[in-house]
Amino acid sequence: MRVLVYGAGQLAQMMYLAGCPLGIEVHAVEVSNDTVVHPVSKRPLDITLAQAIESSDALTVEFEHVPERLLEEASKSEKLYPSIDAVLVGADRVREKRLLDALNVPNAAHKVVTYIDELEDCISALGDKLIIKASRDGYDGYGQWRLTSEEQLPELKQALGNLNLTTVPLVVEQMVNFDRELSLVGVRDKSGDIKVYPLAENLHHQGQLHVSVAPAPNVSDDLQSKAEDIFRNLADGMNYVGVLAVEMFQCGNGLLVNELAPRVHNSGHWSMSGSDTSQFENHLRAVVGLPLGNTAARGPSAMVNIIGCSSFSRDLLKIPGCHLHWYGKTVREKRKMGHINVTAASYRELGEKLEALGQFVPSEFFPTLGREARKLKHIEP
Ligand code: ATP
Ligand code: MG
Repeated sequence: MRVLVYGAGQLAQMMYLAGCPLGIEVHAVEVSNDTVVHPVSKRPLDITLAQAIESSDALTVEFEHVPERLLEEASKSEKLYPSIDAVLVGADRVREKRLLDALNVPNAAHKVVTYIDELEDCISALGDKLIIKASRDGYDGYGQWRLTSEEQLPELKQALGNLNLTTVPLVVEQMVNFDRELSLVGVRDKSGDIKVYPLAENLHHQGQLHVSVAPAPNVSDDLQSKAEDIFRNLADGMNYVGVLAVEMFQCGNGLLVNELAPRVHNSGHWSMSGSDTSQFENHLRAVVGLPLGNTAARGPSAMVNIIGCSSFSRDLLKIPGCHLHWYGKTVREKRKMGHINVTAASYRELGEKLEALGQFVPSEFFPTLGREARKLKHIEP
């Protein structure tokens, strides 16, 4: 069997690796020049995009910002999973908000702005603690601005002055005073069967995910089932096939959906060693029509992103249950270079292992690691 992935980054690479034992061959499309490449070496393969589409059993995406003309071509083959509509929901915050509202999924109060002077109305309606997001092409906190008081409005307007809001509107959201960030990663197959992973707790720093812990500690059955209901509602509502990630804010016992990722997601990387079936394997299973695998967690685990740094001691592999996943990219500031998965028998042990990990990595690139380690060490078993 063969699967063609649009996008040739680390997610395509990890899908390729998950496909090997199943006999699923994964090819990737470098979307900047329409070439078909090997997902690990990134070397061009001797095959045209049209031939690759023709010879694949399923087409999928590793990121939502695939040029629309490529998505349309893929969709015509009737082998694209998830559907073009689902991918475009992930690529466009206006579509995303429309979907959330149409399905009555709770999310932050917001307004869509296509004309800069509408920002005043946003302040009257939503208050002056706002987060302003470009509706397209944002990721890892890029394409976002914050307003914390009305006095900053002229400065903000100036910063936004060069944007064409008619073609790319802004989504202006009320700043949510959340307790923590959670995500639910799950998978739906072609017959509508759904399996979800336990909620993960996500620690962000400067708009970027640094650490995920799964299962998230202190999740009541009620909270997990609220999250699952949201997932079902969204996945069924889009007739979704494949892995879908739902990022949420926990506020007391309530959940607000922040955003959707129509693909395998960074906050699901823990599943490579923390669950029976990784998100990458389950995504492939779903898109080619194989039975879905068990999504239960084996025990507590953590995923630590390696961001903007390549110099750390490989001796971190001495820590039992510690696995390195290196993406083979050239180092750049804020670039996700790899991740480390750590599994343990208890949260306390997981905290101790993260503390040990801190001795092998430069602390300036892992600003949340110590805090997370201390927190986990104090969780009652
Ligand atoms: P990524 O691709 O890494 O998920 P992103 O750039 O697509 O990020 P968001 O997930 O919307 O953007 O926002 C990044 C982070 O900013 C969130 O994880 C959260 O920490 C913070 N954030 C976003 N929206 C809000 C909000 N309405 N209130 C408070 N914080 C927010
Ligand atoms: Mg996000």
